[in-house]
Amino acid sequence: MAVMITSECIVCDACATECPVAAILDDSNEKNPQDNKYYVKPESCVECVGHADAPRCAEICPTEGAIVWDMPYTPEYEDYFKSGHEEGTYAIRIHNKKGMMLPSVKKQTFDNSISIEQRQSHANVSDF
Ligand code: SF4
Ligand code: SF4
Repeated sequence: MAVMITSECIVCDACATECPVAAILDDSNEKNPQDNKYYVKPESCVECVGHADAPRCAEICPTEGAIVWDMPYTPEYEDYFKSGHEEGTYAIRIHNKKGMMLPSVKKQTFDNSISIEQRQSHANVSDF
């Protein structure tokens, strides 16, 4: 991953068009596993590395605590994302040939200036 959108989201639609990799789904998208909030696809989010100095979604979001850090989308956190998928937190894409696009199939870029502790505590992105 990634960043994560929380239940603080007010469904204002400001963030989705800001994402350089189209990783954000709106609340009515059938691929969004959760209701009443926007959703970041962890297998797609690059944390804006190579696109901007900070996550664009969080810069535009008007709501404190709606966009928080999540774990890196790397093989070390394979079980974390797989469990989250099974529990409905994530809806990781199923590729026709490659199967579920877990980190072991395709890891994603992440901002290594953010510590694992900050990620585990789902710290607010706009605080960094
Ligand atoms: S951090 Fe960047 S790449 Fe990730 S969802 Fe937000 S805008 Fe998209
Ligand atoms: S900008 Fe923030 S509050 Fe608005 S839809 Fe995105 S996450 Fe939700």
